[in-house]
Amino acid sequence: MCTSNRWILINKNYDIVILGAGAAGLMCAITAAKRNKSVLILEKSNKVGKKILMSGGGRCNFTNLYVEADHFLSNNPHFCKAALKRYTPEDFIAKVEEHGIDYIEKKHHELFCVKSSKDILNMLLLECND
Ligand SMILES: Cc1cc2nc3c(=O)[nH]c(=O)nc-3n(C[C@H](O)[C@H](O)[C@H](O)COP(=O)(O)OP(=O)(O)OC[C@H]3O[C@@H](n4cnc5c(N)ncnc54)[C@H](O)[C@@H]3O)c2cc1C
Repeated sequence: MCTSNRWILINKNYDIVILGAGAAGLMCAITAAKRNKSVLILEKSNKVGKKILMSGGGRCNFTNLYVEADHFLSNNPHFCKAALKRYTPEDFIAKVEEHGIDYIEKKHHELFCVKSSKDILNMLLLECND
């Protein structure tokens, strides 16, 4: 495999290869691994979860108590309905609480980390390692 300036040899087969270790890629990896799939995540930048760290001014606005399909613009509104039915804000809040991450509700029902976005990134990386 060739990246812009170096080659990486991967001598193992994986069920799933994910491009990008952002919020979506890490969540996808956790979900796939829970289904007993072996997963390789390839990240092109020098740091995983960069945008997570920047999000919410460094405190990651990780969900909203009132997330509804109607709040999303999409060419396929049914996708949002199906996706939000299968994974709710409460599911993510349960994960955050399981990891003992303190959070607060701010205006418009937004939930933020009390300390740092790093808590959310570390949580996702821990779950990936598990
Ligand atoms: C300043 C800022 C503040 C924000 N605040 C919030 C907030 O408080 N709450 C909120 O919900 N959202 C917030 N967002 C938006 C949120 O960060 C993004 O919606 C979310 O992180 C996007 O996740 P993602 O995994 O889809 O994409 P990304 O985080 O962009 O992840 C994609 C990853 O893929 C990598 N990649 C791309 N191409 C390749 C390739 N070919 N090979 C390998 N790797 C590749 C990229 O380097 C990147 O790491 C904020 C965004 C910014 C910029």
